[in-house]
Amino acid sequence: MPEPKRTIPMMVPNIGGQKLPFDISQATPKNCDACGCQHFMVAVRLGLISGMASGNITGRDQLVKFEVYLCIKCGHEYGQPVPVKRE
Ligand SMILES: [Zn+2]
Repeated sequence: MPEPKRTIPMMVPNIGGQKLPFDISQATPKNCDACGCQHFMVAVRLGLISGMASGNITGRDQLVKFEVYLCIKCGHEYGQPVPVKRE
């Protein structure tokens, strides 16, 4: 019989009852690309997948959501290009 995979080390911090497969104390702090602020708030982006879209087997419009992070200081969305340098 297959042996269970042990990919999670013993010293992993337990956050909210959910075990993370890495040590969060080793995370590199990420700052806002626009202003350097270290604090973000969670926001949600919505998208609509048309019922006509190929791959949408439901045949109905589907609302999908993405979790994004907004800088609490300037509102810049984390991971998005900084507005100043437009292409
Ligand atoms: Zn910012």
